[in-house]
Amino acid sequence: MENTPARQLPVRLPPYSSELLSSWIGRHAAFYAVPPLIMLRHCLSEAPSLRAADLHLSSDQEARLANIFGTEPAAVHRMTFANVAQPSRRLIATRPTQFCATCSPGGAEPAPVLRSQLLGWRITCPLCGEQLRDAGARKLPSPFQPYRAAAVRGEKLLDDEAERGIRTWTSPADIARLLLMRRIPRPIPHEHDLWRFRVLGAIIPDLDHVVAEQEEYLPTPAKPILPLHLRPALLAGIAIVERAGPEMLQMLRGHMMGDNRVRFTDAVEGLIAQVRRPKACSQMQLI
Ligand SMILES: [Zn+2]
Repeated sequence: MENTPARQLPVRLPPYSSELLSSWIGRHAAFYAVPPLIMLRHCLSEAPSLRAADLHLSSDQEARLANIFGTEPAAVHRMTFANVAQPSRRLIATRPTQFCATCSPGGAEPAPVLRSQLLGWRITCPLCGEQLRDAGARKLPSPFQPYRAAAVRGEKLLDDEAERGIRTWTSPADIARLLLMRRIPRPIPHEHDLWRFRVLGAIIPDLDHVVAEQEEYLPTPAKPILPLHLRPALLAGIAIVERAGPEMLQMLRGHMMGDNRVRFTDAVEGLIAQVRRPKACSQMQLI
């Protein structure tokens, strides 16, 4: 395709409400019968990938895309994750893991992807408030229904931080990372069982046996996106720690040993130091 600035496409497909930018570009690619990356590079020749475009665009790139697709730069911006702060980005999945049965546009080919389908902190749809459903073959009910109220609170904490830059005394996304670190339960279990014990299990005691029973591999702190039916446990854990305050994080250190304990302690002290610096509290919300 040409190197000169691309002109407005002759046929433009309207975006679905809250559609992800890469999905919208992908649907145009299907319409014009070219691969999605070719479609993207027709618009932005320097763009490395669709994922990169979903995560970050310069204002010049937003303006060029808006021109080609006959819309406003602000509309393009809203279709991306450009507003999501860095600590929350590890909670953005690389492919759709969930969907809302009410808001999912059905019947279209290729299927449109809504922005919310990649948000690893959501258990409810941001458009209609319904429970999200697992996009995979597993349709397991959540064993963490009793924690539902706390989980919804945790979802809101993570959502406020990611989408609106609002934090309470600390970063809920950082709490998520800490809660997925390994812990050593007492009595110390058999060596080959150690992998499944996480700090989160010290707050949500049902977690250990659910993980053992379902033979689930929990994700690492680097990518803390839990399968949808287990996610309420992490969200509830975040809400409980957030409400209890920094002392709870200090207490949780007692569940760790060795290098892991040192890493956890360092991270917790970093968070607590931020709390003590008055300026870091400028966004504090009292709940
Ligand atoms: Zn919905």
